[in-house]
Amino acid sequence: MPFLSSAHHGLKKRVQDLVDKMIAPHAQEIEGAHEFPQRAYKAFSREKLFALSMPKAYGGPEADALSLALMVETISTVSPSSALLVFPTNAVLRTIALTGNSEQKDRLFAELRAGDQPMGFCLTEPDHGSDAGSLETRAERVGDHYIVSGTKSYITLGQHARYYLTFVRTGPGPKAAGISALLISRDSEGLDFGPPEKKMGLHGSITSQMYMDKVKVPVANRLWGEGEGWRVLTEVANPMRVWGAASMSLGTAQGLFNLALKHASTTKSNGRHLISQQAISFLLAEMQMRIEASRSLNYRACALLDRGGAHPREIETLVSMAKCYASDTAMQVAEMAGKVMGEAMADGNSLAARLFCVAKGIQIFDGSNQVQRLIIARNLSYTKDVADTGS
Ligand SMILES: Cc1cc2nc3c(=O)[nH]c(=O)nc-3n(C[C@H](O)[C@H](O)[C@H](O)COP(=O)(O)OP(=O)(O)OC[C@H]3O[C@@H](n4cnc5c(N)ncnc54)[C@H](O)[C@@H]3O)c2cc1C
Repeated sequence: MPFLSSAHHGLKKRVQDLVDKMIAPHAQEIEGAHEFPQRAYKAFSREKLFALSMPKAYGGPEADALSLALMVETISTVSPSSALLVFPTNAVLRTIALTGNSEQKDRLFAELRAGDQPMGFCLTEPDHGSDAGSLETRAERVGDHYIVSGTKSYITLGQHARYYLTFVRTGPGPKAAGISALLISRDSEGLDFGPPEKKMGLHGSITSQMYMDKVKVPVANRLWGEGEGWRVLTEVANPMRVWGAASMSLGTAQGLFNLALKHASTTKSNGRHLISQQAISFLLAEMQMRIEASRSLNYRACALLDRGGAHPREIETLVSMAKCYASDTAMQVAEMAGKVMGEAMADGNSLAARLFCVAKGIQIFDGSNQVQRLIIARNLSYTKDVADTGS
């Protein structure tokens, strides 16, 4: 693959070996149980996957976007819920690396260097999902602290994270203008979590409401300035969905393809293996073609991020395309896998059925696919100007 260096291949193999040994044999159980995936947590901690994006200056490997994408994709081929341990965690770590001041990096990275601490990302509220700019969680400044009250919903990792990157309202607005980004420690007084949500898929990923009742957060835990939280979100955090949600989708689609191919190669109908029926082999060919197209777009978007210097709107457009295309592809592949597998997918406990539901979930989260289309459409004039000037 043209985008991958030998270091990328090395990392991919390392994660693949770990997945084959430690995750794949238990994937069905992890994806089916509404429980924190302890086994995956321990395996990832041992391999320090929680700290893959830790900067080199602080003793980490400072993985680039493409490396993070390979990790998330590889884990998601069998257990997207397990990928949701390391995806928000590395997103928060990378956000600290890109926006934190030296005191924050010295303090936080010293604590997180061991690579065994999950991190949460808290934007959505019960009344504000896609319209995140209207969020209502309040943070009043009192001396060198903020007093934070409000509710966040659908928070991946629930109570299991060490810190929560939380977007709060510190000023009157309008809308995004009054938003700040705070890191809230798990042991803060007044912080509590609801029971795990009963989602249609991703059962092995705990998702909960997060309640903040006068939680005291040091001003020293604010990333960038007061009122600059929206920039932290849009300029720094949002592009990470290319190695997050997009790579999860890609892995999920690949996992569904692998299951469908195995089923078609081992199951007979009218005395012949299913794969020898043209209608079935065409379905598999279609699945593989779409997955490869999605992979090319995804890796290209990662390479653009890693190269640096691209215009923010070019990055925004390509990242939105990669997330939207990859999760729509995963859903299409899921439907085609159902045609190949029949009953083997209709069994609600099968891994194929679990992955089918995951594909639907990723179309919704990390910015729904309608919202990604809005972003792409908003940038159409920019994309056209670039094409016209050839720049
Ligand atoms: C498994 C899972 C994990 C999650 N983890 C986290 C997490 O860790 N942290 C976090 O902060 N959030 C998380 N979320 C929340 C997720 O990001 C939101 O669900 C998502 O942003 C959509 O918000 P909503 O569900 O409130 O839908 P709404 O915003 O209410 O939208 C409903 C529907 O309307 C469409 N829509 C909305 N506005 C427009 C528009 N202007 N034009 C066209 N269509 C529109 C949407 O696409 C959607 O299909 C998670 C969600 C899921 C399912």
